[in-house]
Amino acid sequence: MSDRPVRVRFAPSPTGYLHIGGARTALLTWLLARSHDGTFILRIEDTDQKRYNEDATHKLMEDLRWLGLDWDEGPEIGGDYGPYIQSQRLDLYQKWANWLVEQGKAYRCYATQEELARAREIAQKTTGKVAGYERMHRYLSDEERAKLQEERGSYVIRFAMPLEGKTEVYDRVRGKIVFNNAEQNDAVLLKSDGFPTYHLAMAVDDHFMEISHVTRTEEWIPSAGLHQQLYQAFGWEPPEWVHMPVILNPNGKGKMSKRNPPVREDGTVIPVLVHDYREAGYLPDAMVNFLTNIGWSFGDDREVFDVQETLNEFTISRISPSSGAFPVSKLDWINGVYIRQKSTDELADLLLPFLERVGYQVDREKLAGIVPHIQERLKTLQEAAEWTRFLWIEEFAPAPPEDLIPKKLDAAQSLELLRAAYATLRDLDNFGWETQEAALRALAKEHGVKAGQLFNPLRVATTAQQVAPPLFQSMEVLGREETLRRIQLAIAALERLVEDE
Ligand code: GLU
Repeated sequence: MSDRPVRVRFAPSPTGYLHIGGARTALLTWLLARSHDGTFILRIEDTDQKRYNEDATHKLMEDLRWLGLDWDEGPEIGGDYGPYIQSQRLDLYQKWANWLVEQGKAYRCYATQEELARAREIAQKTTGKVAGYERMHRYLSDEERAKLQEERGSYVIRFAMPLEGKTEVYDRVRGKIVFNNAEQNDAVLLKSDGFPTYHLAMAVDDHFMEISHVTRTEEWIPSAGLHQQLYQAFGWEPPEWVHMPVILNPNGKGKMSKRNPPVREDGTVIPVLVHDYREAGYLPDAMVNFLTNIGWSFGDDREVFDVQETLNEFTISRISPSSGAFPVSKLDWINGVYIRQKSTDELADLLLPFLERVGYQVDREKLAGIVPHIQERLKTLQEAAEWTRFLWIEEFAPAPPEDLIPKKLDAAQSLELLRAAYATLRDLDNFGWETQEAALRALAKEHGVKAGQLFNPLRVATTAQQVAPPLFQSMEVLGREETLRRIQLAIAALERLVEDE
């Protein structure tokens, strides 16, 4: 670690909700700041968009906040190095691009798209290489330049890449990376509309924001030689380069992408946006734990650890150079672990919006009653809606009477059993689940049937669900009156069935 104070930034382009890969980049950057008493900066890189997109930026910030990745400088907070939105810093980029031109380290290129395309084609045909095809305006005389300026007016500013030698970039994750300068292009720094390219904006901002470490994905490695050269041309001390691996699809092939989202074995789409995970009922602390595990290792085999533990252990040297697949089943598992760590009240609070969202009128007391009985089974908060549906539906629709007949019994026998169960439950001193269980087990014995032959029809009668929490606990939370009413509906349905036979 250099002795510069740690100042690191997450620099997303505002395209909307945060991509899972962006979240991981943000997280590792935040961990670096927080574990080294550093500063975490949010910088919005909107120079491709021409205009600051408030809605997209807002969505990004909402996702970051949800994950707990708070920034010390950036939009809505400000700071001494602002503005933190690139489209509000255009003067600065123009000034420094022109400075490079004055120094002879960059030049104005007036070439049209057609001219460039032709030059590229010729270079490809004659030399088989395209590096340098775009240099046609690098060596113009002053007169030629003045003429083009007058005739065309419009130009871009290109970096004058040294034609010989090598550029060495020291990457903290993968060590030395060497670029052959002759194979590099004269990259555009400033576009004809006065907007910078990423290369220029990044170098200028990272310098003036005193960024100590550039943490970004390995997709930027091919440009790292140019960036190192740019710093040299400006005479600025370059930041440390930390190129992180990208997150691959669960099958290990290709980057996770919004356009071509991966699917689970059952065909359902695996979300690539943080927002979608949030909507599906993943917990932020589980997401953070899970994302930390991709491309960074805790150092032993542990997979479950909270942020504080990660902060105590965090070092760049544990970032892996190789891309990791997105192990979605592990995410489900970790989410389940975090759900189980919640207290009943905490989990009830978390579940409430997911139940209300599907239109259920939730009784808070009943919810707290059922939570301990579904907590073990939940992989996401969203699943609770299906598990607990029987508690909230306004108009209970009984299951078809055929479903009330257990294996090896007929309709008449089932009817008799349900009638007996009805009477038993009606007459219990209290409706606690242990009392119910004892009484109903005794009843099954008395009738010479297996417990399941009594309990299954009761589950169907009282919940009409394929999956439901344990029977007695469900009936206890549902309450005696409603339980009996539903059993009565089942009895009536079976009576009709028996009469028809
Ligand atoms: N705006 C760039 C991106 O979204 C940032 C890369 C960087 O962190 O330098 O990929």
